[in-house]
Amino acid sequence: MRGKTHFACGVAAVFTAASAATHAGGSPDPVLWGGMLFLAGCVAPDLDTPDSAVSHRLPWAHRGLAILGVRHRTLTHSLVGVALCGAICWAVAATSPGALWLWPWFPAGCLFHVLLDSLSDAGVPWLWPGGRSRSVRGRTVVPGHVGLYRVGALSEYVTAAAVCAAVVLSVPVWDLVLATMPVA
Ligand SMILES: [Zn+2]
Repeated sequence: MRGKTHFACGVAAVFTAASAATHAGGSPDPVLWGGMLFLAGCVAPDLDTPDSAVSHRLPWAHRGLAILGVRHRTLTHSLVGVALCGAICWAVAATSPGALWLWPWFPAGCLFHVLLDSLSDAGVPWLWPGGRSRSVRGRTVVPGHVGLYRVGALSEYVTAAAVCAAVVLSVPVWDLVLATMPVA
């Protein structure tokens, strides 16, 4: 997916989380603060390609990954990458008193990004550096993978709209789940 469609799906997810928190009697504020980190995580994995909107805004970050030899849809689009990102976020948050609760939001956004990219025709190498991914014209694809959409085509926007609708319409389900959880 492109940056704007990743961002739109992320906004839908944050809206849903804030709505569920409000319905559960909590404050939406923590969700909105964490949601900003989540949205950053939703676009961050594409720092591995010079063509992405996030790389245009943060060229130094893209150059850093390029110097480290990180190619598009490899480390940043894998479970190893998400786990590494989570460990770094936890380590950073642990040094700031009262901020530890913020650590999962950014890696959760990265995971959401990889999940959405896995629906594309190229797929993602979830098990990188293992798995059956290979490089085609400079990008990693998963042979035999059948996706729901092609990046930049109408099918990408249809998929993004369907994901946004599904996420927003899941609010009553989350209300039900939270209602069944024991109150501390
Ligand atoms: Zn991506």
